[in-house]
Amino acid sequence: MKMIKAGIAAASILATACTTPGESVAPPTASSSATVKSQLVAISAQVSETSLRGYIEKMVSFGTRHTLSDTTSNTRGIGAARRWVESEFKSMSAACGNCLEVVMVQDTITSPPRVPNPTLIANAVAIQRGTTDPNRVIIIQGHLDSRVTDPLNFTSDAPGANDDASGVAAVMESARILSKQKFSATLVFAALSGEEQGLHGGRILAAYARKQGWEVLAVLNNDIVGNSHGLAAHVDNRVRVFSEGVRSNESEEIGAARRSVGGEVDAPARNLARYMDGIAQEHLPGFDVSLVYRRDRFSRGGDQVPMVEAGFPAVRVTEAAENYTRQHQDLRTEGDIHYGDTIDGVDFPYLARVTRLNAMTMASLATAPRPPREVKVDGAVSANTTVTWTASDNAASYIIWWRDTTSPIWQHSQTVPGSETSAVLKSVVIDDWFFGVQAISADGYASPVQFAGIVGAFFAPAN
Ligand SMILES: [Zn+2]
Repeated sequence: MKMIKAGIAAASILATACTTPGESVAPPTASSSATVKSQLVAISAQVSETSLRGYIEKMVSFGTRHTLSDTTSNTRGIGAARRWVESEFKSMSAACGNCLEVVMVQDTITSPPRVPNPTLIANAVAIQRGTTDPNRVIIIQGHLDSRVTDPLNFTSDAPGANDDASGVAAVMESARILSKQKFSATLVFAALSGEEQGLHGGRILAAYARKQGWEVLAVLNNDIVGNSHGLAAHVDNRVRVFSEGVRSNESEEIGAARRSVGGEVDAPARNLARYMDGIAQEHLPGFDVSLVYRRDRFSRGGDQVPMVEAGFPAVRVTEAAENYTRQHQDLRTEGDIHYGDTIDGVDFPYLARVTRLNAMTMASLATAPRPPREVKVDGAVSANTTVTWTASDNAASYIIWWRDTTSPIWQHSQTVPGSETSAVLKSVVIDDWFFGVQAISADGYASPVQFAGIVGAFFAPAN
């Protein structure tokens, strides 16, 4: 989405706490300095189409990766596939001095009709512990399992090249590249199972994250990210990022606050999506994020859903132009139409762009300070608005954002020094705007914008 550059009018009416009085253009809501750019571009440049193709070819070679398929063969079925992902993560870990903890996060599930018998649902997960803030966690995930037309058919070939070997390839490529560096926060790379049978792998990973006490800042759920030839159009210059506006786990308390002060379009997942949009705008020339203000595609679901239900900010990343003749289809040809999710439907330059967006977003989030806590606004029946927050470690500055209540994206901004924890926005009437604050490091790494109040808190208490 193109960001509205609207700092001018706002800056002219502000008198206090302004470090950049001549500022004429609002900075983007994502990290943007020369240092950030050079570091993120260096990460982006390592994303390899050859590597992505190799991952997907290998996943397709397992014939089917259906959740109920064979687990004993070393060449066919979900068991062989997840052990392969595990072994790849272990190889990456060996290459970085054992920087990755590789674990199977798993549970045995019975859930008729799609999981009629007790079935081990095992997620291959690699954890790269953060150096200074390891309890802050950023997760990238895709689902390894595949299917054909009948959701219970676990024997027919189900290549799942795009749904969702493409997402798992983005996860693995991000792990390969990011494991070469150290980050303040923890990165988690997850190849989930059981998605097509009812989002079981996502639910199992969410429960694991809760049990670990992780403070999950972001979940990037990549599902169907490799095809550019949709039924209606060829689109290779943008990707959709779906996000919820109201928390899926909204408590009565947060619901009451939302009805009182607003925030229907500012769940943390939404501000995470805007952050990804800013990363694309700043660091991926020619590639755009289409923000979709929905938790998922119309009446559909994915593994971001159990994550937001657990209270974690999670978005769904999906190609801009889907091709339904390729998804969940028996391999066949009818008339002129080829059905099935085969690798010839994957556009590798496109998948590489989506992977770059993910890897840069993770690096940026893991290097930036945490979003400020306890962001509050005050100023009812007043001509000014006062914004306060609790300091974030390593914040060199904060950017206060506000926008029209009808604007889908942040519009106006004011930067204040990192020593401040409040600012007065003169002649900004609180009733007429939405407000948020982000923390910026000395190098220019930005946290996501946190919407004011508990409605927008990234680390809200789970309920
Ligand atoms: Zn999928």
